[in-house]
Parts: sequence; C-alpha cells; structure tokens
Amino acid sequence: MPKDFLKGARDFYDVVVIGSGLAGLTSANMLARAGYSVLLLEHHYQLGGLATWFRRRNGHIFDISLHGFPVGMIKSCRKYWNAEIADSIVQLKGIRFENPQFSLWTTFDRQDFTRILIDKFGVAPDVVQSFFETVRRMNFYDDQTMTTGELFERFFPGRDDVVRLLMEPITYANGSTLEDPAITYGIVFSNFMSKGVFTFRGGTDGLIRKMRAELEKNGVDIRIRCLVEKVEVGPDRRTTGVVVNGRRIGCRAVVSNANLKQTIFELVGEEHFDSSFVEEARAVRLNNSSCQVYVALKPGVGFDYVGDLLFHSEHRGFDIEAMLSRNISSRTFSFYYPDIRPWRNRYLVVSSTNARYDDWARLSREEYQASKQELIESTLDCLEQYIPDIRQKADHVEAATPCTFKRYTRHWQGASFGTKFEGLAVSKGLPEQIAGLFHAGSVGIIMSGWLGAVNYGVIVANEVDKYLTPAAARV
Ligand SMILES: Cc1cc2nc3c(=O)[nH]c(=O)nc-3n(C[C@H](O)[C@H](O)[C@H](O)COP(=O)(O)OP(=O)(O)OC[C@H]3O[C@@H](n4cnc5c(N)ncnc54)[C@H](O)[C@@H]3O)c2cc1C
Repeated sequence: MPKDFLKGARDFYDVVVIGSGLAGLTSANMLARAGYSVLLLEHHYQLGGLATWFRRRNGHIFDISLHGFPVGMIKSCRKYWNAEIADSIVQLKGIRFENPQFSLWTTFDRQDFTRILIDKFGVAPDVVQSFFETVRRMNFYDDQTMTTGELFERFFPGRDDVVRLLMEPITYANGSTLEDPAITYGIVFSNFMSKGVFTFRGGTDGLIRKMRAELEKNGVDIRIRCLVEKVEVGPDRRTTGVVVNGRRIGCRAVVSNANLKQTIFELVGEEHFDSSFVEEARAVRLNNSSCQVYVALKPGVGFDYVGDLLFHSEHRGFDIEAMLSRNISSRTFSFYYPDIRPWRNRYLVVSSTNARYDDWARLSREEYQASKQELIESTLDCLEQYIPDIRQKADHVEAATPCTFKRYTRHWQGASFGTKFEGLAVSKGLPEQIAGLFHAGSVGIIMSGWLGAVNYGVIVANEVDKYLTPAAARV
C-alpha cells in the first residue's frame, strides 16, 4: 500500500493553501494566526518552493535562491513570522561587477551608487539625485506605460555602461527587461537601494525549518507529497474544496500558490471563468527561467574572499538576449563562506544565469546531458578567474536547468519569477471571478523574489480574512 500522506487530515478546513512557496507559507501562517483552520498542501517532499536547498554526499548543502533580497525582508519576517527569523537576516557587503566596461565593488545602496555614478561614471550629481528621487517615488498607481528603457534614456541617454550597472542585477533578481514598465524597475531597485543586499544566516534549510515550527505552533495542518489535482467550483461560482492525491477535501476558501496560469487553466479549468477573463489570462506572459551550476569545495578547503555576489559578463552593454542565450556570456556567482552555516565550515559557489525553457526542453536526452556538461565546464573555466584552482578544490559539481525548476515546482516553463507585469491584475481579479479563490505567488515582477512573495502572501491573507469574516460579522 502506498503511504497515505493525508492520513488523519480532516474532511473540511476554512482554508486550503496549495503550495508552500514563501507566499503560500506566509498566507497559511497569517490565516492560522487569525484563527482559521488551514491545510497546507505541497506536492514536493520539502517545503519552501523555490526557496529551497539540497544536500549532497560529504555534508554539502546547496541553496537555490538565497543570493540576496532587500532589507524589507527583516521587517516582514518580524511582523508576519517571528523575531528569531528576522534576527537571522544579515547584510552582504561585497557586491562586485566584472565586465568589459567596468570592474567595481559596491555595497549596493544609494549612497555607494551615488558615489560610483558621479566619481566613476562621470554623471552630474543633480542627475543622479533626480534619478534616485524619481525611482523612489514610483508606485503601483503611477504611469504604467513608460518602460524601464525609456526611464534610463531620460536620465542617462546613450550610456549603456550606466544602464548595465543599474539594470543587470535587477534582471538577475526578477527577470525584468528594458521593455517592462518602469514602475516595476523603480519599486524593486529602490527596495535594494534603501540599505543594500541581505541574506539569511543559517541557510534556506534553517529558514524553512523555523517557518515550519511557527506554522505548527499556529496550528497549520502541513502535508507534503500532496499534489492538488483540482480546485472544486460550485454552481454558484464559489470554491467548495480541492481534490488532492485523489481525495476530496472541502473548504471555504482556496489560496493557490501554484503558478497563476496553472491555477486558472489546470487546477480550476477555463470553463468556470468569464471568457474575457480567460482571454486576459491567456495573454499573460510567463517570466524567464534559470540555469544554475553548483560547486562545493572539498571539506576543509576554502578560497580567499572574492566578494559575496559577482555579476560577471564577457558581453558589451546590457543585452537581454545574450543573458538568456544558451551560449552563456553572463553569470552571477554567489560565494558562500562558512559564516552562512557557521557549524559546517564549508565553501560553496552557485552560478546562476537567466534562461529560456524552450532552449532546454526541446533537446534530446543526449543533447540535454551534453549541454548540461558544457554548462558545467564553461562555468568552471569562468570561475577559474576568481578561484584559480577551483577544479582541484571542487568536491561536487552539478547543474540545474529550466527543466529541473519545472520538475520540482510544476511551474509552466520552469518560470523562476512568475509572470510579467500583466499577471498581477489577473491574480488580483481571481476572487471576482470565483468567490473564495485566491492566488498568492510570484506575479507581475514586483510581487516576486523572497520579499515580494512574502508580502503578497500577507496581502492575499488579508483578502481571504475579509472574505471569510466580512466586516459586518466582526464584533
Ligand atoms: C535560480 C533562482 C534564483 C533566485 N534567486 C533569488 C534571490 O536571490 N532573491 C530573491 O529574492 N528571489 C530569488 N529567486 C526568486 C524567488 O525564489 C521566488 O520568487 C520565490 O521564492 C517564489 O515564491 P512563491 O511563493 O511565488 O512560490 P514558489 O517558490 O514558486 O512555490 C510554489 C509552490 O507550489 C507548489 N505547487 C505547485 N503546484 C502544486 C500543486 N498542484 N499541488 C501542490 N503543490 C503545488 C510547488 O511545488 C512549490 O513548492 C530566485 C529564483 C530562482 C529560480
């Protein structure tokens, strides 16, 4: 008999949360804290979604998406999780750029970028200040027609070196391009510029362990290896439950942390929505995916400090096509020193690149394996510039592609950062189509990344609370 991962689960909950990415986890936590019964269903054997890690022989632990997030994560974790989680967040001080146009180190905050733009790039101080003020004031209700490219052209015409400095890290962080609305850039860039880049001391496994403990304390019923196959919709267009691992479980509200398009077209079914909404949803573009190469050094072997995050490129100018190409010329290296997990004394490197799903999914099995090996070899070649004897020092090396991300998260096309901007309106519009159905997960560029996902989880939990307990019913 296969193990029943739903053993002991009730037949009815106030809320079912589908998926345990940071948005799903946060929604579940908020709703349980508010007193609702919550069932959290995750198809993988591990919680966290893309906020994840894996272990390899010799005690190596690789983090997948722990490269950096803005300072706002401290406040969000303190408020919506707990002080222990918030207190483990620390700053990364060595952010580095190495490319044919410039070589520099920065703390990646407004003060340091102001210095660099004026002293190194020769931009007039009033232009720099005006740029920072403009992007800091940007918000969701602003003009959504101006693109990021147009924003840069307004302040730094013809300066592809400045554009590269300002844009490359944000493209790595959320897949956005010069064609995306400038507000998406402004919001995310300003979040980083307020105080720099932060990480979680203790690693992703430590974070998720602490989150799990908090969820259990608040009474969330957590189930792994539970694949939701269907969201049930009643004749009055109200959600009434889910089908998971072949079993029906009833509920008053569903929060889907699965990919937005998967939620609409697979879990619910387009027949339940207005045709205009279906058209809108169909037009939503998915964001790009990623490739990664993971390198663990032999136990007891290390390397001198070469920075925490390194944006390396052999390409001239900011070029999204080159960044997505399988013929890789740009990589972001995350260097992990023993202080990330002080009790382990390990050195690791993770190289990340933006990538297109189709470039990898259409390969034959042999081509796929050969391409992965090529990715590993070219990454090690590149890394030798910073850690000269990396091939001798490496104990374990492996690679992930968009197909890997798809397999573990079920995201269409292995999307790393949800959808493009238009996905946000569709995500927010779901409950107007089907009462009790909500989506909380990476969408619209601004609601992605660790901070975006946590904050969107909170926003959606508040909406669910309002739906379950309307103002008139509150005393
Ligand atoms: C390579 C890479 C590097 C990144 N680096 C950073 C970084 O440095 N900083 C940063 O802030 N962000 C980074 N990100 C982005 C960040 O990790 C994500 O935006 C964020 O973690 C997404 O959270 P989410 O809530 O949208 O859900 P996801 O993490 O996408 O999780 C969704 C969950 O739903 C589950 N699920 C889906 N369908 C079902 C179903 N039918 N039944 C049950 N469960 C289901 C999936 O298994 C998954 O666990 C990176 C992403 C990638 C891929």
